Amino acid sequence: MKNIAVLGSTGSIGKNTLEVVRNLNRNGYPVSVKYISANSNVELLAAQIEEFKPKAAVIFNEASFNDLKSRSLDHKCEILCGQAGINEIASRDDFELVVNALVGFSGLIPTTEAIKHGKDIALANKESLVVAGELIYSMLRGSEAHLLPVDSEHSAILQCLQGEPMKQVTKLILTASGGPFRKFTKEEMPNVTVEQALKHPNWVMGSKITIDSATLMNKGFEIIEAKWLFNIEAENIEVLIHPQSIIHSMVEFSDGSVKAQLGVPDMKVPIQYAFTYPERVRSDFPRMDFKQLKNLTFEEPDLEKFECLKLAYDVIKAGGSYPIVLNGANEAAVELFLKGKIRFIDIPALIKSALDKHENHVSPSLESIVGIDSWSRKFVYEAALELA
Ligand code: MG
Repeated sequence: MKNIAVLGSTGSIGKNTLEVVRNLNRNGYPVSVKYISANSNVELLAAQIEEFKPKAAVIFNEASFNDLKSRSLDHKCEILCGQAGINEIASRDDFELVVNALVGFSGLIPTTEAIKHGKDIALANKESLVVAGELIYSMLRGSEAHLLPVDSEHSAILQCLQGEPMKQVTKLILTASGGPFRKFTKEEMPNVTVEQALKHPNWVMGSKITIDSATLMNKGFEIIEAKWLFNIEAENIEVLIHPQSIIHSMVEFSDGSVKAQLGVPDMKVPIQYAFTYPERVRSDFPRMDFKQLKNLTFEEPDLEKFECLKLAYDVIKAGGSYPIVLNGANEAAVELFLKGKIRFIDIPALIKSALDKHENHVSPSLESIVGIDSWSRKFVYEAALELA
């Protein structure tokens, strides 16, 4: 029996995770959900509590906490609130694996708490590694915890690397769909709407990551994520636009051979692999039908049109605390864009101003990461006011 905690159970990855739990239980791989957490979706969290019967549930939002507490659920479990609730469950010793499906910077402390308590982490929260890769890997060295990628590209790479020594790897190739604006001209970009940006061609995801996919910042984050997960220099990680999202990523080896992992674009596959790694378990998920496939195409990303990816490359080169600013400024700018307060093309402009203002810190502590993150957000909120 695998005992797990699911953080962010009502979001897109959280719902897919619970679908994976149902699949594994149907296919002879028992999984028990001991703890569950959500931000504010009381309705869905209550239904999940009834179905999965966890020992405790954490809800972030205080009003939602009172709402959830007042409900008379058939399954009685502890109801906890906020960051204190997450820290409380991280310290319990009756589970081994935590699925971190929180959105953005809020996923960082739960990642570090899980490592402190020796829990394995199925990491969907790539921002943890973007802002604190160095710190997380130094913590992992002194811990029993393991980090398993849930991101489809990184799961693909992990699958390609099975049985292969890292010293024979010459290149990781991260594929990207190119997002909804792949065919737009640079001149069309200033007028794109929130609605257009939220229409991802291949994947159904939460709104923050969908915007990150439209700007290609998501791919920039994924380079940083891959660098830490696979301990490889960023210059050996290539981004390749592959609009069909069938090849989830590839690895090139010293003899010139390339391995790719392919499949239907479905997050349940990488989530399940993180659970069962290095084994595989049967699933009832949709299968590839290659006869229906017309073509697989590839392009180079356009760094002039997608300035966020260019900024990510600059930040990777600069290192230190710049990735924290990249992430914090991006989160604030995406939030403002989703609220209709700034234009799509203001996202990279605001991030660039924040990066220009920042003074680099080498090997930042958790405390300074939190400080630099909030500085970056504040900077963007203020700079955005001047745009209006
Ligand atoms: Mg991805």
